[in-house]
This record gives sequence, C-alpha cells and structure tokens, in this order.
Amino acid sequence: MIKKTFKCAECGERFAHNGAVRCGNDLLCSICAKEFTVCCGECGVRIHEEEDYGDFDKTLCEKCYDESYVSCRRCGAVVKSQDAVLREADEQIFCKDCFQMDSEKWSFQTDIS
Ligand SMILES: [Zn+2]
Ligand SMILES: [Zn+2]
Ligand SMILES: [Zn+2]
Repeated sequence: MIKKTFKCAECGERFAHNGAVRCGNDLLCSICAKEFTVCCGECGVRIHEEEDYGDFDKTLCEKCYDESYVSCRRCGAVVKSQDAVLREADEQIFCKDCFQMDSEKWSFQTDIS
C-alpha cells in the first residue's frame, strides 16, 4: 500500500497525509502550522499570520473582518461594527472607549470655560 503524503507549503518537507493542517489552499505540517498560521476567532478558518486582520487580542480572516468588523480611527482597535460608534461630524469610526473619551474631553473643556 502506498502511503499518502503531502508536501508542506512552508518548509517543503513531505509528511504523512494525516498530519496535514489545511490553511486556505495550502497544506502545512503541524510544525509550520503552529509557527506561521493562526485561526480566525470568528469562523475558525486557518490563515497565514500576515493575513490576520484582527488586532493584538483577536485574529480575524479578511472575510470576517470585511463582514462584521471595523477599525477605530483613534486607537486602531478592531471592534464589531455594532459596537463601533460613528462620529457624525466627520464620519469617523471609533470604538466605544475612544468615543467616550472624546466626548468626556469635550464636556470637560466645556465645564472649565
Ligand atoms: Zn512544514
Ligand atoms: Zn473568519
Ligand atoms: Zn479606539
């Protein structure tokens, strides 16, 4: 019986097929998968590290980011679209924290004047 093998897309080594980790159209060995890929926190798809559209505490594939996330203009945090706030004055998108901070700053300034 011929043993099924695959060629790892990262290191080019051949491994037994049952050890393959799928990442998009690529098959990776478990070592490279650990080293170079991450799983989307939303849909669980495995993506290459450089395709991570999330921020420091989440991993997102391009599709999930496009569909349901936006980036805060101020701090760069990636937040769910429904949790983001649109500042109507200039149509900039902020996370709730930054929007809050922004409005607090403004009310503070109004207080002292
Ligand atoms: Zn490999
Ligand atoms: Zn995803
Ligand atoms: Zn923010």
